[in-house]
Amino acid sequence: MKRLGIPSWKIVDHDSNATSYNKYNYQWNKVFDVVFPVAFFIPSSVCDVQATVKCGWAARIQLVPNSGGHSYAGLSLGTNHSIVVDFRYMNSIDINDEDESFTVGPGALVGPINAKLWRNGGWGIALGNCMTVAIGGHGIGGGYGIYSTLYGLVIDNLLEIEMVDAQGNAVTVNPNRNSDLWWAMRGVGPGYIGLVTSYKLKMFKAKNLKLTHVRVAYKNKDLPLVVEQYTKWLDWAKRNNESVNAIVSATSDNHSAGFEFTGSGVEVHLVHIQDPDIQPTSSEAVLNAYPKYFTNSTRTEVQTASYIDVLIATSYTPIAPSKTLSVADGTFENIREKKLDFFLSLTKEMATITYSYTKSYFVDKKFRAKDLIDAQKVFAKITPNPIVWFTSEQGAVAAPRSTDCAYVHRDNLYNVRVRFDGPQYDDFLAAKSWIDEFVDVTRFMDKGETYQNFPEKNLKNYLHRYYGKNLNRLIRIKTKWDPYGYFRSEQSIPTLFQT
Ligand SMILES: Cc1cc2nc3c(=O)[nH]c(=O)nc-3n(C[C@H](O)[C@H](O)[C@H](O)COP(=O)(O)OP(=O)(O)OC[C@H]3O[C@@H](n4cnc5c(N)ncnc54)[C@H](O)[C@@H]3O)c2cc1C
Repeated sequence: MKRLGIPSWKIVDHDSNATSYNKYNYQWNKVFDVVFPVAFFIPSSVCDVQATVKCGWAARIQLVPNSGGHSYAGLSLGTNHSIVVDFRYMNSIDINDEDESFTVGPGALVGPINAKLWRNGGWGIALGNCMTVAIGGHGIGGGYGIYSTLYGLVIDNLLEIEMVDAQGNAVTVNPNRNSDLWWAMRGVGPGYIGLVTSYKLKMFKAKNLKLTHVRVAYKNKDLPLVVEQYTKWLDWAKRNNESVNAIVSATSDNHSAGFEFTGSGVEVHLVHIQDPDIQPTSSEAVLNAYPKYFTNSTRTEVQTASYIDVLIATSYTPIAPSKTLSVADGTFENIREKKLDFFLSLTKEMATITYSYTKSYFVDKKFRAKDLIDAQKVFAKITPNPIVWFTSEQGAVAAPRSTDCAYVHRDNLYNVRVRFDGPQYDDFLAAKSWIDEFVDVTRFMDKGETYQNFPEKNLKNYLHRYYGKNLNRLIRIKTKWDPYGYFRSEQSIPTLFQT
């Protein structure tokens, strides 16, 4: 590596620098066996990444990319025989007001991106709500957040990707250059065709938005009723205003998540986004319609807010409570600015070490309350911590066709994600057993697709579940750009020679 002009501090192995090695080998999810990669390579430029690929290929050592390290399946942790390419220092965020875009390194975390865009002109982008996820993995797997039904997924807002291929070439990817990669990289997720070194993304004028949030609360026992009402509501939204997001959180009646979009029991969250440029309609129709669909609730709240207030209220930072802010930190305005400073200070290692377990599937059929009688018997036994989320897959998420790019999941009504996070092993075992049972009893709802940004270890048939009918085309593109299958990791796409 040194012969290729890479300074030794960018290559960290245990023998030469145990302190840095242990810092970089940060494995926040205790569910997985601890691995000890051969080394960590910490690039700061495209040339560094090219040199690593050439060197890794010559030495026949696998390279595993890691941007924010948030893969639910631990796919970026590497193995005892691989080198992890840690993109933490390729995290620049450069805003271009003129063409309403920004260019960002894969190591930039969602928190700093949101904060920087907002503070430099009141811009926004439809990202997920976890502030310690990095754009590196988020931006190629899909990227879903509360704004997605209006602005689309992160992949739908990509304008250009810079990447390094398996031969070590720097490659520009956009609709006019390397169009096969342009198709493949938008949805490839953990499939690993190339190493992304930057993204150019569209942004929107967030300061002009007005948001209306309707929150309707139910008890745990009401899940079947809510699923039926939710399905009917999605129909209403399809006919009247598809950009209205509808999210359901469901858990036990004594759960306290301390997070804006998750309360106790079952809650429906409707989010109307008024954007004077592309969705000027007011929330009046939503406010008139929702009481007819969501009946027999225990409580209803309606709030209007600005983009920045919603960002502050709904952002999720899996950080030790002592490091987050509370009302005691000052007025709301103070808190807003402090929180943005806090987002800018986030690092990968701030993510709490925990046991985390997630399963998910897409739903494309309509179900009635009576279809969920058995599911409710299991749902009633939910231990305090797991949470089930239903997220609408309509509007701008469903606008592209399922073959327009590698992201295949365009024809669905909603996604179901069941997740547990907690510090205790015994709680994890109980939650895992419950999640497996719940997913099993609701199997009839599963369309057979899994979101590749929620990958699962040991998932049977994962290539088909992530890519569906796009898999064969992805295999052909992978074979063209990486004929020897050098870019290989646990759930990467095989070449034609490996299938
Ligand atoms: C707490 C939590 C909350 C989440 N919330 C949401 C949400 O609201 N919406 C949503 O859509 N998703 C969400 N996710 C999922 C998240 O989008 C994915 O885990 C995403 O892939 C993480 O990206 P990363 O760079 O942080 O992770 P990493 O683990 O570093 O990478 C994830 C995958 O992308 C590949 N990859 C990473 N960097 C590169 C690169 N530079 N070049 C090529 N391949 C690369 C890795 O090999 C790996 O397979 C959440 C995950 C967690 C843990």
